[in-house]
Amino acid sequence: MSLDINAIRSQFPILETQVRNKKLVYFDNGATSQKPLRVINRISHYYLHENSNVHRGVHFLSQLATDAMEQAREKLVSFVHAESIEEIIFTKGTTESINLVAHSFGNRFVGAEDEIIISEMEHHANLVPWQFLCKDKGAKLRVIKTHDDGSLDLNHLQSLIGPKTRLISIAHVSNVTGVINPVEEVVKMAQDKGIFTLIDGAQASSHLQIDVQKLGCTFYVFSAHKMYGPMGVGVLYGQKAILEQMPPYQSGGEMIDRVCFSEETTFNVLPFKFEAGTPMVPEIIAFAEAIDFINEIGFEKIQQHEHELLSYATEKLLAIDGLKIIGTHAHKSAVISFVLQGLHPYDVGSLLDQMGFALRTGNHCAQPFIQRHGVSGTVRLSLAIYNTLEEVDLMVEALKKVKNMLS
Ligand code: PLP
Repeated sequence: MSLDINAIRSQFPILETQVRNKKLVYFDNGATSQKPLRVINRISHYYLHENSNVHRGVHFLSQLATDAMEQAREKLVSFVHAESIEEIIFTKGTTESINLVAHSFGNRFVGAEDEIIISEMEHHANLVPWQFLCKDKGAKLRVIKTHDDGSLDLNHLQSLIGPKTRLISIAHVSNVTGVINPVEEVVKMAQDKGIFTLIDGAQASSHLQIDVQKLGCTFYVFSAHKMYGPMGVGVLYGQKAILEQMPPYQSGGEMIDRVCFSEETTFNVLPFKFEAGTPMVPEIIAFAEAIDFINEIGFEKIQQHEHELLSYATEKLLAIDGLKIIGTHAHKSAVISFVLQGLHPYDVGSLLDQMGFALRTGNHCAQPFIQRHGVSGTVRLSLAIYNTLEEVDLMVEALKKVKNMLS
């Protein structure tokens, strides 16, 4: 059965919004996706009928909230094909997940002169925490080069791997270009040498099926808000055997087993060891609703639709004189970054905004990668399941007008 886009769009009331007296066209899904009503309603339902703190109450509401939160964790186990709930840690998002690993894994597994490998295309969230760790530990950061088409230079990666390499941390999908990295190959290269791996799935988890066991990565991280779920919640998947050896990241309630002044404090079991304090309970519960939304459509249809949008938009954009796409590699997810010769991306984005189009302009929190391509920034179009070919047409026409106005 083909996809009923109107039925999907009707679940997102915000798509009917007027911005600046124009109908909204939302192409900023890489920054955050819109949320279907079922996700929004699930949060209200929680506060109306279930609100209570989790894990530490015997009373009815506390058990209700705890059950709903733990069911969400189980849903995430299936979603990424983890082995057990012990491997799914709720965090605030991708950024916090990576910081947790940099601190805790870094504390236990990284020493002076060790090496961490990232790539040139990383979002600052998968770059700065490793810079901090390397500074703290006297370790070294190595950076994989990329080809002009935005793909990873695997030969360069091979040359960087050595006896001191402890971890390779790369994006599954680039947030600047949408290029899909060959993470299976990278993990295999690491596994052969006993090197740990972290995959930043922030731009992948709503577009690609994730199977962490098949992939074999040590860690996989992502954010709910980029996959039709609420803000403020994300996931750190980690292999149980490694998580068990890592010290807690933050301390306080929930992650504690036993505390007294005369003996050493002991910690809770996984995954709670890494979840200090009251979690974002309604957001976690509503995240499960977003997972249901994705699963009910299915990745096959999601990819089919997004691929059609991507091919169509690429062709239409390339027909505009002076437009250059950054990241032309064939294996791409639903992102297009472009520059228009002689025009500043900010000016283009601002004028498009006046016409009701939400696109992102700038360096996309990936300054070294933008510099590597010799531009000051790009205009980024990032697509989602509710976008349509008509919206692409509208945007391309608007862009032509913008070009004439600015030229
Ligand atoms: N990694 C990538 C590739 C991203 O695109 C983003 C956000 O855009 C992040 C990490 C950070 O995600 P969050 O802000 O949800 O923590």
